[in-house]
Amino acid sequence: METVQTVVIGAGAVGLAIARELALSGREVVILERENAFGTGTSARNSEVLHAGIYYEPGSLKARLCVDGQRQLVEFCRSHGVAHRVCGKLIVACSEAETAGLEKIERRASAAGVGSLRWLGGNEACSLEPALRCHQALLSPDTGIVDSHGLMLALLGEAQDHGAMLALLGEVVAGVVRSDGFELEVAGTDGPMRLGCRELVNAAGLAAQRVAARIDGLAQAWVPTLRLAKGNYFSLAGRSPFSRLIYPVPNEAGLGVHLTLDLAGQARFGPDVEWIDEIDYQVDPRRADGFYAEIRSYWAALPDGALQPAYSGIRPKLVGPGEPAADFRIDDAAVHGVTGLVNLFGIESPGLTACLAIAVRVRDALDATA
Ligand SMILES: Cc1cc2nc3c(=O)[nH]c(=O)nc-3n(C[C@H](O)[C@H](O)[C@H](O)COP(=O)(O)OP(=O)(O)OC[C@H]3O[C@@H](n4cnc5c(N)ncnc54)[C@H](O)[C@@H]3O)c2cc1C
Repeated sequence: METVQTVVIGAGAVGLAIARELALSGREVVILERENAFGTGTSARNSEVLHAGIYYEPGSLKARLCVDGQRQLVEFCRSHGVAHRVCGKLIVACSEAETAGLEKIERRASAAGVGSLRWLGGNEACSLEPALRCHQALLSPDTGIVDSHGLMLALLGEAQDHGAMLALLGEVVAGVVRSDGFELEVAGTDGPMRLGCRELVNAAGLAAQRVAARIDGLAQAWVPTLRLAKGNYFSLAGRSPFSRLIYPVPNEAGLGVHLTLDLAGQARFGPDVEWIDEIDYQVDPRRADGFYAEIRSYWAALPDGALQPAYSGIRPKLVGPGEPAADFRIDDAAVHGVTGLVNLFGIESPGLTACLAIAVRVRDALDATA
């Protein structure tokens, strides 16, 4: 059986960022990816927003890793030529009643260390974005957008420059904890194979629970229940009426149907929240009705028939509908007692923004027991 120092399961943005960080630290890294290309999971099905860290519980991993990660990611994009734009975003209260929601966001953001938010009156906001209708708004100048595929390509490239290897069509189907590391069963193109490693990072996204549940030697108490919250997107035919991202006041499971822009300036709306039992990426065109209503609360001039079903992504939630938001889980030996193993669960938004900071945290966790 071949043995390597470190295996990262999953070549999404988070797995690739971790692989890069571990390769830069001098480790011999193999990335095992189930699909025939990197970055085809949730990392290809999101809003591509570089969040400023506004919404998260102060002190939580989401808050800390988002604030640190955003700074690191903008720097990484600049130095590695990854397309991105710090275009800013407006969070809008469409009525006086919603202003309390904005005040709560501002308090939480400043407690989390986001000091750049600015209050705008309705008229001031509309002078920035003439198509907008709102009562009050918070401007986040640091929020941006990124080309997620370009980001992953750059992360992979740097990981490979430092010796990391990516094995596509390499699905991890089982694992066993051994005294000196792990033995993995991998369903490769030439049939199943065994691979040994001293360190194992499970960054399998929506499949992280399934992978963890198949590691013999990890107590099942450390595998949380997975809930699926699909987010559907609709694209806007024609030119975007806005040059900044426009977000309503968030609801309990997501950030509300917001307008994001891609780097070509095309607008899309979403994601909404649809709790599902099985992974299914089809977008039901009938959901457009709810979108029209929500969007018209801040963009009254949205024409009938302007929205087209686009794509969807699925949030790997750790809590169900109506429950308080859960934090990221980056479970290391201090949590589950298995030296050399890190499981990442519930890496929903802002996982893309936070990927570099998550990677540093995983490296620190592995260094602590190396
Ligand atoms: C609707 C939506 C909108 C979002 N918007 C944003 C946003 O605007 N900004 C932001 O910061 N974050 C956003 N996020 C969150 C962000 O997209 C994720 O946190 C991030 O992409 C997760 O990356 P990942 O590498 O953990 O998972 P993934 O990209 O899903 O990668 C996991 C990989 O593991 C592979 N895999 C699975 N099982 C196995 C196995 N057994 N063996 C080998 N490989 C395996 C999969 O094929 C996949 O490639 C959003 C998420 C959703 C769902």
